[in-house]
Amino acid sequence: MDRRNFVKSAGAGTAALIFTGGAFGSGIKNYNIMEQNTKGFLFPDLPYAYDALEPYIDARTMELHYDKHHRAYFNNFVAAVKDTPAANMTIEQIFSGMSGYPDAVRNNGGGYYNHLLFWNNMAKGLATPSSEMVKALEAAFGSFDKFKELFGNAAKTRFGSGWAWLYLTPDKKLAIGSSPNQDNPLMDLSPIKGKPVLALDVWEHAYYLKYQNRRAEYVDSFWNVVNWQDVEKRYREALSR
Ligand code: MN
Repeated sequence: MDRRNFVKSAGAGTAALIFTGGAFGSGIKNYNIMEQNTKGFLFPDLPYAYDALEPYIDARTMELHYDKHHRAYFNNFVAAVKDTPAANMTIEQIFSGMSGYPDAVRNNGGGYYNHLLFWNNMAKGLATPSSEMVKALEAAFGSFDKFKELFGNAAKTRFGSGWAWLYLTPDKKLAIGSSPNQDNPLMDLSPIKGKPVLALDVWEHAYYLKYQNRRAEYVDSFWNVVNWQDVEKRYREALSR
């Protein structure tokens, strides 16, 4: 068995232990990447069907984004850390020492992790935050609408490819920012640092089929498919760590 196959079968074993049922695999929801080292990294099912987020995110975009783009980041990440010390680390350990790694680990590790977060950040029918979450956002940004405006602006004004983030700073404050390419706030080389809470992919591959050059329209549509249950879970976990 070569190393690639070992990684795959180790991943499958992990999946059997952690995943619970569900037609489209609630798998990804129960997959805690932070507990994995590279031997346990796997490429989980989407937590919903490709067309689940229609009309805001179209099925063809979801299929290409998940099955081509995300899968390529995963495969290239596994290849990039193979036979290196990173192969025995958690992804958070790798990110915290990111500046010491080659670009292939940075770009593909970020791409692998960021998209896992992004798929979980979205769902149909959970686009209303709890009153506690609204209060936390009001305390940080003035109002819920102001939070959406600031996050939306971060997404709309990120030049080129990248991500918008709501994240918890090391001193436990909610903050908004953006990062280029596949960087994220967990990376030591990122100007914005903290625990990701909500992520929005603004690479053209995330919206171009449906929205073409109209990134702002895609960003505004995103609020219809935010999975606030997942966002709040991530927020509480970040607060407690
Ligand atoms: Mn993407």
